Amino acid sequence: MKFGGTSVGKPERMHQVSQLITRNAETTIVVLSALSGTTNALVEISTALTSPDKQNAAEKIATLEKKYSAFINELLQDESIRAKANEIITEHFEFLKITQKISLSDALNKDILAQGELMSTKLFSLYLEQEKIDHVLLPALDFMQLDANDEPDFGVIQEKLKMVLAQYPTQKLFITQGYICSRAEVDNLKRGGSDYTASLIAAAVKASVCEIWTDIDGMHNNDPRVVDKTIAIEQLSFDEAAELAYFGAKILHPTCIWPAQQENIPVKLLNTMQPTAVGTVIKKEAGSVGVKAVAAKDNIIAIKIKSTRMLLAYGFLRQIFEVFEKYKTPIDMITTSEVAVSVTIDNDLHLNEIVTELNNIASVEVEHDQTIVSIVGNEIAKTDAVLTKLFQAINEIPVTMVNYGGSAHNISLLIPSEHKVKTLQLINKGLFNL
Ligand code: ADP
Ligand code: ASP
Ligand code: MG
Repeated sequence: MKFGGTSVGKPERMHQVSQLITRNAETTIVVLSALSGTTNALVEISTALTSPDKQNAAEKIATLEKKYSAFINELLQDESIRAKANEIITEHFEFLKITQKISLSDALNKDILAQGELMSTKLFSLYLEQEKIDHVLLPALDFMQLDANDEPDFGVIQEKLKMVLAQYPTQKLFITQGYICSRAEVDNLKRGGSDYTASLIAAAVKASVCEIWTDIDGMHNNDPRVVDKTIAIEQLSFDEAAELAYFGAKILHPTCIWPAQQENIPVKLLNTMQPTAVGTVIKKEAGSVGVKAVAAKDNIIAIKIKSTRMLLAYGFLRQIFEVFEKYKTPIDMITTSEVAVSVTIDNDLHLNEIVTELNNIASVEVEHDQTIVSIVGNEIAKTDAVLTKLFQAINEIPVTMVNYGGSAHNISLLIPSEHKVKTLQLINKGLFNL
């Protein structure tokens, strides 16, 4: 069971979580995010630490510390447990204060970002102690391991977790941190990574279910932050959910579906604030055919590669892909014509090097501020007149690229980001009649 930031962000929510995790008879591993707003605050602190004037960072640390003091006062009534909590939180804030005196490195930045989950789990564990709920707090850094490519090392995670759990053969309830992991030093699974932690753990222990508890009643057909009227989807296949997560549905971390899919473990998306709502179940079977949802992914860069040498040539695509491979930059969308190839990437870390090398074989144009809009549904082409409806609905939008047919459950469009809101609204009407 994974609980997101909002689900643990208030003392009364921690109380609610304690009730949800104690109602099942099965052994349960609970993964917690940082209290809502904490990771954002830690990112801001880290950024402020890069400036020579550390005053801004000091103020942000003080503000966050006050928030935690107030939280503890409300959460814990038992004097001795409250004293323990204050001691623990003081230690974490001492660390944050010391960072002002050290020069900021990548490793220190990751240490700073890890404080949120470390604090939330320790506070929740103390709350359970106060409520006399028997449990064990497992440090995620003891088993969540990355490999040399910065990807979760599933084999090692499985082995280490097994060893850790074997130390408590009769224990029924475990609490651990989402998001954080270790490589040589403390690291993380990128923003929103607690979902990924939960899915990896579920797969590692071959759990009967992986429940993601959040602040909404499941995956909706469209982004509820952008569109007024959206509806929850009852069932999704792993493939559909993976596409929605990867292409921007914030409710799930972009790559969190694969571990559960690999072990065929159903993933349920549930609402902590409304526990009786059906939510969404993600499993092997999609349950139905046709369009189910649309998601959007921002900060996309389009690269248009043109060369007349491509005419009747073979091996040209290989040359292009080798450049992206060399700079470890994944391609999301791709379209080709006789003399041009267009691709999109979401990572501009090596953009200059990529463009320089591509310029040796072709002419290259780069467009920033693009958004991928992905329409997802099992055997999407079986939706009655899906393409007609889609393109009629977004008639006024200047579409830059189209991908269709690559998979049986996805149509992706590339549009300039300034048109995202309008596009999602038009699709809501045209394809979902909402
Ligand atoms: P948590 O802190 O629990 O991990 P997140 O904020 O990461 O929660 O994810 C839940 C949020 O995702 C929702 O509040 C909603 O605003 C947003 N969201 C974006 N797209 C979707 C979607 N298609 N369905 C449901 N929620 C979505
Ligand atoms: N706390 C981390 C974040 O805000 C991880 C998570 O919430 O999933 O990104
Ligand atoms: Mg999240």
